[in-house]
Amino acid sequence: MWYHIPNKLFNKVGGLDFLLRCDYEISKIPLKLSSFYKQALSFGKLIFTHNYSPHNSVLWNNRVIVINSKSLFKSDWYNSAVCYVVDLLDKNGNFLSYEEFIDKYKIDVSFNNFNKVCKALPTPTCLPSLTIGNTSIKDKQFNNKLISNTFKQIVFCNYNVNVRHDLDSVLKEKSFSFYLKCPLAPKMKETHFRIISGIYPVGEFLYKRFNFEADFCAFCSSVPETLEHLFFTCQYVNAFWFEIHCWVSLRISNIPSFTSKDVLFFMDNLDSEISDVVNFVIVLCKFFIHVCKWKNASPIFTVFLNYFCQYFKSLKLISTMNKKTAVLYSKITKYLLF
Ligand SMILES: [Zn+2]
Repeated sequence: MWYHIPNKLFNKVGGLDFLLRCDYEISKIPLKLSSFYKQALSFGKLIFTHNYSPHNSVLWNNRVIVINSKSLFKSDWYNSAVCYVVDLLDKNGNFLSYEEFIDKYKIDVSFNNFNKVCKALPTPTCLPSLTIGNTSIKDKQFNNKLISNTFKQIVFCNYNVNVRHDLDSVLKEKSFSFYLKCPLAPKMKETHFRIISGIYPVGEFLYKRFNFEADFCAFCSSVPETLEHLFFTCQYVNAFWFEIHCWVSLRISNIPSFTSKDVLFFMDNLDSEISDVVNFVIVLCKFFIHVCKWKNASPIFTVFLNYFCQYFKSLKLISTMNKKTAVLYSKITKYLLF
């Protein structure tokens, strides 16, 4: 009895086994069911996976594909392998024409009945075209570079934020190669590298790259924090650079005033005798500004000088001082410390 009654009953909708795989709604199943079977089907519904796609949506006993408020089941269609919504569609996601449908499945069905089933689908189905960005995946331009750039754009918002087009390649190269050979602590090198690469985490960068709320300058709190502002144009930082310039100019004559490019990247066109010393000081200053930012303190020249002397003393302790460091050490002694 437990086998025959449900078997006979649910045969009209494809059998119990099939029904449990469909997205059914009990009130819309065209059967008179006892409370027991309604409850049993409710449990079955709990294990149904809601993951819509025309490829895995069963056409039959579907709660949203209804005619006169009842879900559908047509055994002759089902027996001819018409089971999913996608079976009514061509490869572009459009409905098959009546002739195409008959030709494909060899079912004896009137045009009206076919049309009714198609109209029972709640929304016109049309598979989206396969594109990434605006490029079809069949396009010749669809290569790894395009995929990588598209994902970078999605994940990092404005990925090209750090590209400086106004900088000539010689200056870029100098700003990059100079610090590698210098006796600088890893954190100092990292700060300089982040600045020249445009990936230092100032407010503007974090906003453009990661959509974080844009922060104001850590020192003056009145202007959005950009790289150039934080390290050069901010009034507090600019005053600091002025004092640095005065200090360096005491023993070395003819040093032009610092510009933002000199500070952010590399001070070019200096005499080779003093170029290393000046650029070494600039990198140390940048690191000092970086430390001040995270300490919420303005960069003050006297504090820097103290910090510079400490660093200079530690240079002396490098046991295996290479030739370049030795030269730099003697130049600092000659030009900066008196
Ligand atoms: Zn500021």
